[in-house]
Amino acid sequence: MLWIIHTTGKCNLKCSYCGGSIPEELMPWKPRYSARELKKLIDSDPDPTIIFYGGEPLLNPDFIMEVMDSIEARFGVQTNGTLPHLLPEYYWKRMDTVLLSIDGVEWLTDKYRGKGVYRRVLSTAKWLSEFCNCRRIARMTVTRDTCIYRDVIHLLELGPFTHVHWQLNVVWSSKWPFLEWAKNRYLRGIANLVQYMAGKLVDGEIPGIIPFLGVLTAEKTGGWGHIPCGAGLRSFSIATDGRILACPIAIGEKWATLGNIWSGIEKVIRIDYVSPNCLSCDYFKWCGGRCLYSLYEKYWGDEGQKEICWVTKRTIDHILKLVPLIDRLSKKGVISWDEILYDPLMDSTEVIP
Ligand code: SF4
Ligand code: SF4
Repeated sequence: MLWIIHTTGKCNLKCSYCGGSIPEELMPWKPRYSARELKKLIDSDPDPTIIFYGGEPLLNPDFIMEVMDSIEARFGVQTNGTLPHLLPEYYWKRMDTVLLSIDGVEWLTDKYRGKGVYRRVLSTAKWLSEFCNCRRIARMTVTRDTCIYRDVIHLLELGPFTHVHWQLNVVWSSKWPFLEWAKNRYLRGIANLVQYMAGKLVDGEIPGIIPFLGVLTAEKTGGWGHIPCGAGLRSFSIATDGRILACPIAIGEKWATLGNIWSGIEKVIRIDYVSPNCLSCDYFKWCGGRCLYSLYEKYWGDEGQKEICWVTKRTIDHILKLVPLIDRLSKKGVISWDEILYDPLMDSTEVIP
């Protein structure tokens, strides 16, 4: 299972997407439970992955070290990438996956995350690439300023990132002309990225474009059967006050509290409780309902949700065009499906942007 551990609600940046630190009353800035209590909970899981999360998780390095010293697990961190020196190299070397927030080219990243952030994140990624054998995932937020082809290729070709993943800035932000933008720009960029991936596959290379790897995995394995991030069923977040949450974003929503660190997981959430429509959707196999939070909260209303679903479906259509090519190449032994298969629970990614 995936365990997302909030080490603090505090953050040193004020990105436009979330505005910085989470108020202390919602997410205390230090855990109110011990690493030993966390171990008791996680010990029942035979195959745990622990991802440290914030705020900015590196603002509480002591807790990260305590947890890594007391629990056997796969480890990772979702960080803004500006404070790597706060954690000793010994612990970085033990990370299996590091997700670094960066949106694409320099001006774009700095516009939304602050001046100089791009260079700091890139320097962290380069530094990690010198000694840490971890996956280094560039984690983008995609806005109307993003050119998905330009920005994904830019990050992939920089060198230190092994993978790129993105999430659309929909639902949480106020409504913007998303559908128009997607039709005019985003989906064309996705089609171009599919062409790029096809060219690399023919050469026997598999670019680490996570949404593509995820959708192709669902095609090959029969589908997720639930939200790909696992929220509320295969993935649980532990807030600093000890609550167990279905999703790390849903820190104040009643539906998301599933138990607490002392009493354990008291209930889980299945997609059929939340969105029966998804079960009868032709794209459920690959999409899995996309995002539990957005299905519950629907900040953009039913119409907005329909727009997001339409864009999701067209994105999946583009990605699935790669399937016959991969079948042919795997028959010839150029690549194999095993190299494509991707498990989002190992990295705390969402698969569907
Ligand atoms: S495309 Fe929309 S309706 Fe279909 S599974 Fe995804 S979220 Fe559900
Ligand atoms: S995809 Fe949605 S439900 Fe899953 S972790 Fe992200 S916000 Fe939460």
